Amino acid sequence: MIRKLLIANRGEIALRVVRACRLMGIESVAVYAKGDDQSLHVRLADHAVCIGPPGAATYLDIEAIIAAAEISEADAVHPGYGFLAENADFSKAVSAHDLLFIGPEHQLITLMGDKINAIEAMRQYGVPTIPGSLGNLPDDPKQQMAIAERIGYPVLIKAAAGGGGRGMQPVFESEQLLSSVQAVKAQAQQFFGCDHVYLEKYLQTPRHIEVQVLADKHGQVFCVGDRDCSVQRRHQKIIEEAPAFDIPAAAREKLFATCKHAISEMGYIGVGTIELLYEKGTFFFIEMNTRIQVEHPVTEMVAGIDLIQAQILAHAGEKIHHIPAKVPRGHSIECRINAEDPESLQPSPGKITECHFPGGPGVRVDSHVYAGFTVQHHFDSLIAKIIVHADNRQLAIKAMRQALSELHIGGIKTNTSLHQQILRDSDFCQGLVDIHFLARSKAQDKLQSPQTADIT
Ligand code: ADP
Repeated sequence: MIRKLLIANRGEIALRVVRACRLMGIESVAVYAKGDDQSLHVRLADHAVCIGPPGAATYLDIEAIIAAAEISEADAVHPGYGFLAENADFSKAVSAHDLLFIGPEHQLITLMGDKINAIEAMRQYGVPTIPGSLGNLPDDPKQQMAIAERIGYPVLIKAAAGGGGRGMQPVFESEQLLSSVQAVKAQAQQFFGCDHVYLEKYLQTPRHIEVQVLADKHGQVFCVGDRDCSVQRRHQKIIEEAPAFDIPAAAREKLFATCKHAISEMGYIGVGTIELLYEKGTFFFIEMNTRIQVEHPVTEMVAGIDLIQAQILAHAGEKIHHIPAKVPRGHSIECRINAEDPESLQPSPGKITECHFPGGPGVRVDSHVYAGFTVQHHFDSLIAKIIVHADNRQLAIKAMRQALSELHIGGIKTNTSLHQQILRDSDFCQGLVDIHFLARSKAQDKLQSPQTADIT
């Protein structure tokens, strides 16, 4: 079993892993960039090592992280999400230094990191995919036009190595195709170091549904549940829920059976997420994330499982004891609280002067900040995840409204008011959401003067 685990990350996810380690009797080692030493993940870990100057680049410094693991005599490394979590070279380097990487084999990280290859692999395992170019888009403009014609407009140009909602552009008319392909290719080369792009049908009203998978080294594969993450801004999730509501039981069962089959065929170990779009009763694979997700707590709440502990145990070779529930236990919602201006959506770093988090039955807060903490401009703007759990979706919405009304963060701007507006929107309350919900509501100015949906 693991004795000491180094966390190659920061912020709330690093703290989440520290907490899981405590419960498992594993010593935790935090690494941090100068200036990040007041983050709770550093203060609450058993050991902490400063590995470099202020800024995100420090958390991407593979050599410094491996050196910290060796100096602190850790025997395992947890990558969290973001930073190096889906970097195959990091996973290889960790294993090469006789450390246990809490993530899948590097070959699977590489396979799923290239969306074109991931789609092809999933197609072969029988997972339905979106009609598209079936591979890297050829350079010949005539072929590009022919492929888009075959798919039918609108089409979406996507970077094979894209992530974080970047490297994607819809095209509605053939006249714009060639210039848009060039633009996405240039952007993809600049951000991801690879200019491969592909085309997909651009779906108009899909929901983003994802399946949480968990597999151990004893041949067990679980679909721990599904989530709806349709409330997005610029393709980035801001509210997530579990279970995905209004999915017919037979469709869910079939989807889980297909996902399980794909995961066992791949020989995948640990936690992962199969992301799909769901439109008119059909699921379409879009990508797989080979790591823990930001939104994992909503699944934990309804499935009654600690996914981080399960992930660590799975990689340590233990058998997972998880009894999948026939019906999920109630409903859970997560709001991502970001340090940003709710109107301009620009980041709002600075010192938090006051900080009061909500509480009470069914309320969970995952956060590394507190009054006196300075949110730095170098990092992602996520400062807290407010998670609620109640008997059903309506009660969970009510609980989240209550929780948000108690939340108070002073000194910086946050997107709390945007969440409050969404939680009062009648379409949201009725479950009438798709991935364009937020853009549509904003465009109609509907969220400014919310139609309050009453919940009894
Ligand atoms: P990333 O890796 O950047 O998160 P994804 O492939 O997971 O990119 O897609 C992110 C979001 O982009 C999806 O949740 C969805 O909102 C939108 N999207 C992706 N593919 C399509 C598509 N074919 N049609 C419409 N929207 C899409």
